[in-house]
Amino acid sequence: MSRDTADVLRTSVQYVKGVGPRRAADLAAVGLYTIEDLLLTLPRRYEDREHLQPIATVKPDEIASIIGEVRSCGLRTTRRPGFCIFEMVVEDQSSGVRATFLNQPFLKDVFAKHQRVILYGRVNLSRNGGLQFTNPEYEIVTGKTSAGDDETIHTGRIVPVYEKRGSLTPKMFRRVVYGAIQRLPDDIADPLPGEIGRQLSLPSRATALHEAHFPTHGTSVDLLNRFQTPAQRRLIFEEFFFFQLGLALRRREVDRGTKPRAITVDDRIRQAVLDVLPFRLTVDQRQALKEIVSDLQRRQPMNRLLQGDVGSGKTIVALLAALVAMENGLQVAFMSPTEILAAQHYSNIKHLLKPSRFHAVLLTGTMGSTARREASQRLTMGDVQLVVGTHALVQEGVAFKTLGLVIIDEQHRFGVMQRATLRAKGIEPDVLVMTATPIPRTLALTMYGDLDTSEIRELPPGRQKIKTSVRAASRSEDNYALIRSELDRGHQAYIVYPLVDDSEKVELKAATKMAEHLDQDVFSDRRVSVVHGRMKQDERDEIMRSFASHEIDVLVATTVIEVGIDVPNATVILVEHAERFGLAQLHQLRGRVGRGIHQSYCLLAYHPPLSDQARARLDALVATTDGFRIAERDLELRGPGDFFGTRQSGIPLFRVGDLLRDHSIMDDARRLAFTCLASSTDSEKVSESAYTEWIERYGLVRVG
Ligand code: ADP
Ligand code: MG
Repeated sequence: MSRDTADVLRTSVQYVKGVGPRRAADLAAVGLYTIEDLLLTLPRRYEDREHLQPIATVKPDEIASIIGEVRSCGLRTTRRPGFCIFEMVVEDQSSGVRATFLNQPFLKDVFAKHQRVILYGRVNLSRNGGLQFTNPEYEIVTGKTSAGDDETIHTGRIVPVYEKRGSLTPKMFRRVVYGAIQRLPDDIADPLPGEIGRQLSLPSRATALHEAHFPTHGTSVDLLNRFQTPAQRRLIFEEFFFFQLGLALRRREVDRGTKPRAITVDDRIRQAVLDVLPFRLTVDQRQALKEIVSDLQRRQPMNRLLQGDVGSGKTIVALLAALVAMENGLQVAFMSPTEILAAQHYSNIKHLLKPSRFHAVLLTGTMGSTARREASQRLTMGDVQLVVGTHALVQEGVAFKTLGLVIIDEQHRFGVMQRATLRAKGIEPDVLVMTATPIPRTLALTMYGDLDTSEIRELPPGRQKIKTSVRAASRSEDNYALIRSELDRGHQAYIVYPLVDDSEKVELKAATKMAEHLDQDVFSDRRVSVVHGRMKQDERDEIMRSFASHEIDVLVATTVIEVGIDVPNATVILVEHAERFGLAQLHQLRGRVGRGIHQSYCLLAYHPPLSDQARARLDALVATTDGFRIAERDLELRGPGDFFGTRQSGIPLFRVGDLLRDHSIMDDARRLAFTCLASSTDSEKVSESAYTEWIERYGLVRVG
């Protein structure tokens, strides 16, 4: 990479023509320091101001570009104090048109009679019936460029429209970018491996930057606005490629570890698996199991994410994988985010393991110390093969005899941290992470790009679709009536109230009052209990247990009910203030019902006014129960930046690419980055520049 050309992009924006220290400070304030920063800020959209039309053909209410001569211009004061209008008349051979500019008195020093100007904007009818532009974009046409034609920036071409940033208007931005582009040598270094550029027929970096900001005449404005011109695609690809290369490098680090053991699968083990299987696996389950078991048999540790909606049957898949590990003489740790889920998994797993020769033990933070010590000892001795627990399992000094596989349920509550701690603890265990919060594929490729993923999309047979309805809170009687009829059938119900942080106390009071009201007035003949986030964990667990054993009919929850809690007899969930919940959250809540054979209901009560966004969320829930589709919709509605809230969520913020719009480019980038690292002769060179130029930005240096 030649130093000179690299230096141009690294140069401070201050050296761009027309950018002094003040403007440079404005740019710095919005995070733009170098020419590269500037040039990688692509326009938000493009306008076709290329086709100049004769003034006579201009029509009211249409957008027009015209060129003509200033016949008259001047400032007009009005009766309103402090308000002025700059007016001018522009003529070409066909006709004339008026242009008015509100409150821009400085224009009297910009325009002069006989200048040639281009105007662009919407045309309207003035009060006296003539055509006029109001506050149009304008440009004064002056000398010729070296190429011999009139080179304009703001008009008379396809014009880039930038987002207003800080104190920088789109027009100022355009001028500054133009200045930077003018300085750009044709031979700036190209970090993409040449073979890839050729394979995808991508233009050079310099061409791409030029064309993405100031497209040459005749470029399709439609393609530009869909960000599908070769120039734009190249810049997006480049960004994604180096991002994926970072992931590939991180992945390579993990893959370089080798397991000090071999796992094999033979007929005896296959039979052992069949022996515990209580039902036929679905096609997706079988496929996921196949992928997991094939990972187990590799020399490198498994690093896999198993995605599947609530109730899709991830547990059995994980358990069968565990069985394969145990048959190979290894121990398995199964981690849950909460005590109650750990207890639930434990009782399930213990039951499922009955036909096998293996033993499971529960290990959680609230167990008595004697019981814990005993469980811990049995693990160290190796006379239990599977332990179910919370992350107390990782934090405390539990020593395994031969830990081989770690299964982490409900991944989103576990940080990368715990995964790393665990990996350090066992001798490079295989890690299977399970999540019931499906992530759209495009995001999975970036968030978990260094994990392999398996998906279970179909639900086990015989499930009834949950009936979802949306009603204004004023119609609560309808909702209560449905709940009552479900209770009459011997079923149970959840009623959920949201808590919003800043007014938690007030809301808690409102919610507990509501619970009282429900208990005494609405469901007076039923057993109603309330569970909320201010309660101690063991109190909460106790109530959840009573609900699970049907000592409670209606559970009013002021906190989000534990993800994964399984009470098949609960057939209806009413969510109050549904408009306040996120889409994924509502989907999780809905997943509390429909877990048995009975028809189940999800009632969403909203308190008007309902924003468009909230309406769209509720509509999406009614439209589908597929967690993957809901995740896609959520991403669409919120945008990638917001999808998981913050930067810390692990979703990188790209400056050129857009995960939604450009997902197919991400697919290419991923494929080519991974093969490039594996095969390319200059992979070392490529990874070098990936490290220096990109990795730090995305925080990928930390190996998870
Ligand atoms: P999740 O993916 O939410 O962890 P679970 O593993 O708890 O789902 O499974 C939900 C329920 O579906 C459990 O009661 C389980 O026994 C049952 N189940 C899972 N797979 C099948 C299957 N292939 N056929 C029938 N029932 C199944
Ligand atoms: Mg589960």
